[in-house]
Amino acid sequence: MKYDTLVIGGGIAGQEASLNLAYNGLKVLLVEKDLSIGGKMIHLSKVFPTLDCGACIATPKISETARNPNITIMTYSEVLEIERDEFFYKVKVLKNPRYINEELCTGCQDCENVCPVVINDEYNYGLIGRKAVYIPFNLANPRIATIDIKNCTLCGACEKACSANAIDFTQEKQEYTFIVKSIIIATGFDLFSAEKKKEYNYDKYRNVIHAMEMERLLSPTRPYDSVIRPLDGKEPDNIAYVLCTGSRDRTLNNPICSQICCMYSIKQAQLLTGALPIADITIYYIDIRAFGKGFDEFYEQAKSMDINFVKAKIATITEKNDGSGNLLLRYEDIENGEVIKEAEHDLVVLSVGILPNTDFTSFFKNGDNLEVDDFNYVKQTDELISPAKTSVGGVFVAGTAAGPMDIPDAIISAGDASAEAMSYVKKLN
Ligand SMILES: Cc1cc2nc3c(=O)[nH]c(=O)nc-3n(C[C@H](O)[C@H](O)[C@H](O)COP(=O)(O)OP(=O)(O)OC[C@H]3O[C@@H](n4cnc5c(N)ncnc54)[C@H](O)[C@@H]3O)c2cc1C
Repeated sequence: MKYDTLVIGGGIAGQEASLNLAYNGLKVLLVEKDLSIGGKMIHLSKVFPTLDCGACIATPKISETARNPNITIMTYSEVLEIERDEFFYKVKVLKNPRYINEELCTGCQDCENVCPVVINDEYNYGLIGRKAVYIPFNLANPRIATIDIKNCTLCGACEKACSANAIDFTQEKQEYTFIVKSIIIATGFDLFSAEKKKEYNYDKYRNVIHAMEMERLLSPTRPYDSVIRPLDGKEPDNIAYVLCTGSRDRTLNNPICSQICCMYSIKQAQLLTGALPIADITIYYIDIRAFGKGFDEFYEQAKSMDINFVKAKIATITEKNDGSGNLLLRYEDIENGEVIKEAEHDLVVLSVGILPNTDFTSFFKNGDNLEVDDFNYVKQTDELISPAKTSVGGVFVAGTAAGPMDIPDAIISAGDASAEAMSYVKKLN
C-alpha cells in the first residue's frame, strides 16, 4: 500500500497535520500506538487560558480525523522500522492483537461488564480500576474493546456475553509494509515520573498526587463526583502545588523549563476554587512563566481569586505522624530569604514536567540518522526559518516531539510540518 505521508502519533499535533494533508488531497497513514487516537489532550479537564472544556475541543477533532476518507488510521500499532529507498520510504508497522474482531465489535461493553478482573486504569492514572477486557475511555475512537491479555484469566465470561461473537483469542501480532513519500513525527512527550523526585515521596504517600491525576479529578469525565484525597476520600481543604517537579532540575537530567506547568497549575487552582469553594490553595513556585497571550492576565486573575503564591524551593515532603494523612512541606522561602520553613497541607499536587519521548530514535535504519537535540527531542535543523525540518530529508516534526509546548503551539507546529510535507511531496510528483 502507498501513502503520501506517514504521520506517527495521533495526539493533537498528529491529527492536525493529518487533516491539513488530507484536505489538500494527500493520502495519509496515521499510526498510533495507543488503543485510541487523542493523545494527552483527551485526558485534560479544561484548557488554559480560556478554560474551555478539553474534551469538547478534542473529540470533534478526533471524529473529523477518523472520518476523513484520505486518512487511514492504525491504532495499537507501532512503527518497527523505516528504510529509505531512493525517493520513498519503506515502513514496517506492527499491529498488536486486540483479541477482538474489530469488524464485529459494536462497543456495547457487555464483555467489560462481566469481566471479573479489575486492575489499575491507565487513562485515570490508577485513580480507579478497569477490567481486563475494556474500552479505554468513553470517547475512545475507535470504540472497540481490547483484551489485556497479560491480565486476562481466560475465564471465558466475555466470550459468553458477547452477542456479536467478536472475541477472538487466536489473533496474533501482524506486520505490514507500506511505501510512503514523506513522514511526520508527532510522537509527543512523556510525563516526568513523579517517583523519580525521591524527596517528594510520591510513591510513599497517597495524598501526594501529580498534575495529570488532578486533571482527571477535575475533568467532566472524572472518576469521582468530587475532588477527593486518594488516601481516605476526604475533600481536601488546603491544597499545595509544587511547581517545576522534574523540570529545570539538573540533578534529574532535565535542565529545561517544561513551559506548560505554571499555566496548567494556575488553571487547576482556578478550577479548584469552583470545585472546592472553601479550600485554600497555595502554589509554590521558583518563577511564574506566563509568557503567552492572555497568560499574565490569567495569573493576575488567579491572585485576585485568593490563590496564594509563594516563591519557594521545596526540599522535602513528608507525612505528618498523627494519622491525619496530612503532609509537611519543608522549603526555602526565596522572597523572604528564610532557609527552612514548614507548611502543612492535606493534599499536594506535583506539577510534573515533560520529557522527550525518544521512540523515534529506533525508527530509522539504513544509515539515516534522525538527529536529537541537546535535550533529546527531535532536532529542528532550521529552527528559526523551517522549524519542522529534521536532519532527514522528507521527515518533519510536529508538536511536542520537537520540545515542550502547549496545545495552540502544537497546532501551529503541525501546520508547519504539514505544509513542509505537502511541498516535499509535490516536488517529488
Ligand atoms: C497536566 C497537564 C495539563 C495540561 N494542560 C494544558 C492546557 O490546559 N492547555 C494547553 O494548551 N496545554 C496543556 N497541556 C499540554 C498538552 O497536553 C500538550 O501541549 C499536547 O498534548 C501536545 O500534543 P502532542 O500531539 O504534541 O503530544 P501528545 O498529546 O503526547 O500525543 C502524542 C501521541 O503520539 C502517540 N505515540 C507516542 N509514541 C508513539 C509511537 N512510537 N508510535 C505511534 N504513536 C505514538 C501517543 O500515544 C499520543 O497519542 C497540559 C499538559 C499536562 C501534562
